[in-house]
Amino acid sequence: MSVDTKRFVVLGAGPMGLMTAMELLKRGYSVDIYERDDRIGGMSASFDFDGLKIERYYHFICKTDFPMFALLDELGITDRLRWADTRMGYYFNGTLYPWGTPWALLRFPKLGLISKLRYALQVMVTKNVSDWRRLDRVNATAWLRRWLGTAGYETLWRRVFELKFFHYTDNLSAAWIGTRIKRIALSRRNLFQESLGYLEGGSDTLLEPMRRFIESRGGRIHLREGIERVLVSDGRVIGVQVGGKEFPCEQVISTAPIQYLPRLVPDLPADFARRIAAIENIPVACVILKLRHPVSANFWMNISDPDIDIPGVIEYSNLNPGSGEHILYAPFYMPKTHPKWALGNDTLIDEVIGYLYRLNPQFRADWVLARHCHRYEFAQTICPPGFFAQLPPMQTPIAGLCMADTAYYYPEDRSISESVGVAKRLVAAALGENQ
Ligand SMILES: Cc1cc2nc3c(=O)[nH]c(=O)nc-3n(C[C@H](O)[C@H](O)[C@H](O)COP(=O)(O)OP(=O)(O)OC[C@H]3O[C@@H](n4cnc5c(N)ncnc54)[C@H](O)[C@@H]3O)c2cc1C
Repeated sequence: MSVDTKRFVVLGAGPMGLMTAMELLKRGYSVDIYERDDRIGGMSASFDFDGLKIERYYHFICKTDFPMFALLDELGITDRLRWADTRMGYYFNGTLYPWGTPWALLRFPKLGLISKLRYALQVMVTKNVSDWRRLDRVNATAWLRRWLGTAGYETLWRRVFELKFFHYTDNLSAAWIGTRIKRIALSRRNLFQESLGYLEGGSDTLLEPMRRFIESRGGRIHLREGIERVLVSDGRVIGVQVGGKEFPCEQVISTAPIQYLPRLVPDLPADFARRIAAIENIPVACVILKLRHPVSANFWMNISDPDIDIPGVIEYSNLNPGSGEHILYAPFYMPKTHPKWALGNDTLIDEVIGYLYRLNPQFRADWVLARHCHRYEFAQTICPPGFFAQLPPMQTPIAGLCMADTAYYYPEDRSISESVGVAKRLVAAALGENQ
């Protein structure tokens, strides 16, 4: 079979799978996307929240999300991108403080002047880093303590880290934390005003044109059709098994969490499967509430309080007021071994509602108009020091099988934009264009 008639299967219809398909179709290949969910979008998919179509998880866009901007341009939908002046808050030990501006830092009473200067200096230096290889080998908490001192670290980072990363807290890469600091620091209109983006209509505004692009070029998207097995013969892909049936193809590109692959591809060599298994993830249970009134004027509220077991709340409607509803997300990140993971969604939702009385003493139970909680097992890859070397190559030892997932954003943070960028690298790897 000539290269031009090669049949590609893409595993997963999140933004990375859709972008992978678009790139292949532009090069003239035949593409089938298999998605086990009943909709496209993966983590960026929407759901019907009591009559409101909204993402299962919140999404904001930063000024440095260049792969996303290029895609919006290609699809002719740049005019749907909106920017908003957003506010940040810091709820620290029972009091909500403004955050995210030089004035807020200066006025914050819980940190000495020297710590504040060290914090500001770290942000200024970090936002100019472009080569992250040195920080890749540095431990994040040690790096933060060196910059901020113990008091600065304790006040600004410790609780948030522990509620997000648990036993991984002291084994994270400084490059990974550094890119997050940089991304937010650069998403500003000026020194005094943070500016974040969103798509009018949410992520669907991007996902639907991607679907149309794919289908108009002959690509096929199969929903509710999870791949059960990648078929391999003599070390080479020969097809996939879906719903008990076999479909022949020459290339499979997986964009699902790579941890699924050893089960889907029993032919993977054991040492490669071990490298995949060594990469760990933190799941999320993300509560979403529709409220009668906003809890605060902030989009993002970090929380450090001994009586509150979530690292923050995100009042999405303070970024995107589109629907006229007040929407609040509250993520519980936790390992699956955490006792709370075994609790029902209603218990987690009630816990969040209990916290809202503290975050805003005016809050009343009848503010809650609708409630929901979504879970995703592979919500956040854990990136320890040396993660560049730990990531397995995209081209697996099986000919015709390439893979990537959100771990391959590294050192960048999780974003739709990164999925778009990684998809282009993935296609280049599958076609041998990097050599
Ligand atoms: C709480 C939270 C907050 C976030 N905040 C932001 C934000 O503010 N800004 C931002 O840009 N991004 C944010 N993100 C990240 C963003 O949603 C993701 O980076 C992006 O959606 C990842 O897309 P993906 O295609 O790479 O992976 P995924 O979304 O994980 O897609 C993988 C797909 O593979 C499918 N699949 C799995 N196994 C199989 C199988 N065997 N057969 C077929 N299909 C399979 C899955 O169903 C899924 O649809 C957030 C994510 C979370 C969870």
